[in-house]
Order: sequence, then C-alpha cells, then structure tokens
Amino acid sequence: MKLLEAMTQTPSIAGREDRLRNLILKHAAGLFDQTCVDSLGSLICHRKPRNPRTHRKKPRRIMIAAHMDQIGFMVHHIDSKGFLRVQSVGGFDPRNLFSRLVTVCTDVHNTKGDLPGVMNPGGKPVHIASEEDRKRVPEISDLVIDLGLEVKEVTPKVHIGDMVVIRAPFMEVGKTIVGQCLDNRVACWLAIRALEHVQQHDCEIYVVFTAQEEVGCRGAGPAADSIQPDIAIALDTTLCVDTPGVDETQSVTLQGSGAGLMVMDGRTIADLGLIEEFEKIAKSKKIKAQRTILARGGTDASTIQSKGSGYRVMSLVCPTRYIHTVTEMIHLDDLYATRDLLAAFLSTTS
Ligand SMILES: [Zn+2]
Repeated sequence: MKLLEAMTQTPSIAGREDRLRNLILKHAAGLFDQTCVDSLGSLICHRKPRNPRTHRKKPRRIMIAAHMDQIGFMVHHIDSKGFLRVQSVGGFDPRNLFSRLVTVCTDVHNTKGDLPGVMNPGGKPVHIASEEDRKRVPEISDLVIDLGLEVKEVTPKVHIGDMVVIRAPFMEVGKTIVGQCLDNRVACWLAIRALEHVQQHDCEIYVVFTAQEEVGCRGAGPAADSIQPDIAIALDTTLCVDTPGVDETQSVTLQGSGAGLMVMDGRTIADLGLIEEFEKIAKSKKIKAQRTILARGGTDASTIQSKGSGYRVMSLVCPTRYIHTVTEMIHLDDLYATRDLLAAFLSTTS
C-alpha cells in the first residue's frame, strides 16, 4: 500500500507523466527483461516467457495497458496581481472543485519547484454574494489559484503550461482505500503486483504504462503499433454508482463484487472470447468477477483495437466509487480480485 500511496502523491497529468514514470521504473525495472520509453512518454516493459511449459517458436504477445496520467490542470494565464487561471486536462466535474489546496509544479522533473496554492472560483464569499451568485455552478474558467505571493515573485517561477494538481490524502476508510487519482494509479500498482505474483508464463508480456489516456487515449495506440500484440488488456478503473441517488439499473458495477469485465463501453466492444476466458479462469480460481457495460466513456482498449490490422481487446476494470473526484474509493476485495485475476490470466494463457 505504501507504493500505491506514493503513486497517488506523485503529480502526473496527461503529457507530464515524467515523475510517475520514474517512480514506476524504480519499482518495476527488476520485474522485466527490457524497458523503454517511446516518443509520447509511454513506458514499455517487456518480459520474455518464464519457466514455460510449452516452447512455442512464436509465443503469444500479451499487452497490458495501464495509463499513468491523472486528470488535472495546466496554468493558462497569470494575471497582473499574480493570480493563476487554469485549463483542465481531462474531465473534472466543476461541482467538486471548491476550496481546494493545489500544487503548481513549476519544474516537471524537480519537486523543489513545487508551489502550494489555494484554488477557488473567483467571486464573492457567501456573506456578500447575491441570491443568484449562490445558485451558480462555477466553470473551470472561473477557478483562480492564489499562491500567496506577489506578482513579482510569481512570474519568474510560473510558466504557461505548468502542471497543477489538487492535494488530497490517501487513506484506508473501512474496507476501502480512498484517494485522488486511484484512476489510474491502481492499475499501475496492479500491473506491478500481478507481475510479482506470476512466476511462470508461456506468453510474452508487455506491460505498457501509457501516456495521455485522460485526453483521448492517445498513448496506447502508438505503443500497440510497436508491440503488435495478439491480445491487449486495458487495465483501468470504472464507475461504481451503487450509491444513494442513482437507480440500481445504472450502477455499472457493484462494490465488493470483484473485478470488472467490460463487455462494452462508449468506444469499444470487447472480444467476447476474452471475456469468457477471464470468466472461466475466475470461476476455476474462485476469484470474484462481474460483467459490466458502460454507456459512455472508454479506455485505452479503444485506440488499441483499431490500430494496425485490428487487435483483440478487453478492459479489466476495478469498480471505483466517486470516480474523477479526489475521494475515489475502491474496496480492497475488488482491488485484490483484479490483481489475482490478471495474474491468473497471465500464468495460464499460452
Ligand atoms: Zn482511467
């Protein structure tokens, strides 16, 4: 859990994945035979078959895609008083963005350049706001960051395009973990932990920690092009809306019911054979799994599927309550079920 916590506290928005990539490399390099970083910043890790039972000339190539980036912001304007305005990078709901502590990363490579700040919608406090002001939901363009510094101290340090992330703790809450960007730090963590469990496999394993998923699944396609996998699994989170205020027909997944097998989402229809293969393994290993369909949205599977001559894909997903907020919540049973199912698939597929 220490590693997962460190991952959630490592700012890495789309296009600025450098810090998380370095953290992953530190922990994962020993698990693989080869690692490289492609032009978009995706980290491609390769492991040859280990203690294989079969000795095929051409072992199957399995690609696991876990996106590294989180939703966040970039500085897009510094005003004459030193207040910052931001551009969102990925899909935040502005209803969740009041009174946040943030970090402005003025040097993507060095935490010494990080500046703390406070982010609020511009406008009047409740004491002096009109009735109309109070009802209005602010837009991202209304958000203002106050660094507590004078403009002459801000402008030499802060650049247009600097990464901004919200500060939020990682905690165990009941039988769950809660934190920001569990989408998709859990997948990066799951890929590492699953690989640690897999002692024997007949297939070639490529784990790709992809770049720029949150802005349209941009990193996974080029990585698939270079790997040309027989099978690709996008490892991600998905909605779990089994909470008050939502009809049970729209829950997507149920917390505590195990790993999610995404049959279809807004951008991909999974290979049915793969869904059935995962179900069979889950049943034989007594690992909890649930089929799910998501009406809108997609994963890295969407861009991988239609690359080259087309690839067989599926998304293996972890049910996540309050997704795309900074209090994303995942049940430990679901987390471990997803890890065990991925490890079992990699050990048995040939
Ligand atoms: Zn995601």
